[in-house]
Amino acid sequence: MWYNRYRAVYHRLAKCGSSASRQGGGFFMPYKDPEKAKAQRANYRAAHLEEERASHAAKYAAHPKEARTRSAAWAKAHPEATRTKNARQRARKRNLPATLSTEQWEAIKRAYQHRCAYCGKKETKKRPLTQDHVVPLKKGGGTTSDNIVPACGPCNFRKSAGPPPSIPPIRLLV
Ligand SMILES: [Zn+2]
Repeated sequence: MWYNRYRAVYHRLAKCGSSASRQGGGFFMPYKDPEKAKAQRANYRAAHLEEERASHAAKYAAHPKEARTRSAAWAKAHPEATRTKNARQRARKRNLPATLSTEQWEAIKRAYQHRCAYCGKKETKKRPLTQDHVVPLKKGGGTTSDNIVPACGPCNFRKSAGPPPSIPPIRLLV
């Protein structure tokens, strides 16, 4: 990871007892604030998105088998992030806005008290909530926080299979 470099420098400084490390970090301060560090990472990623995608693709091409195993393990460990990632990908394929973050999806589910926006059923481990596009992708609705509501599998399936459910979703603005 990129921050290993900073950590290595920090430890070197700590070993030789430099003033930067003695004074509690000095120029390393921003990295001690987790929120700031998170924002910084997000900024970096946004600015280098294409490069990052290309490097991922190159790594995948070099070791496809290992990459597949690794990403399958990651997906299993991060089901919600995977759900969001796949939904964004589906929107991107159609050139639609795809900005829903995993944090936003978690916030939406919390706002709905982890219930289906159509029938109100609470989610269970066996039946996790799915992301329902209020305006379907087919009709130009993007994967964005104002177009996603939580829906149980059957409600989402019923909606995509034919006429919309008789009860419109409860809309909460998160
Ligand atoms: Zn439902």
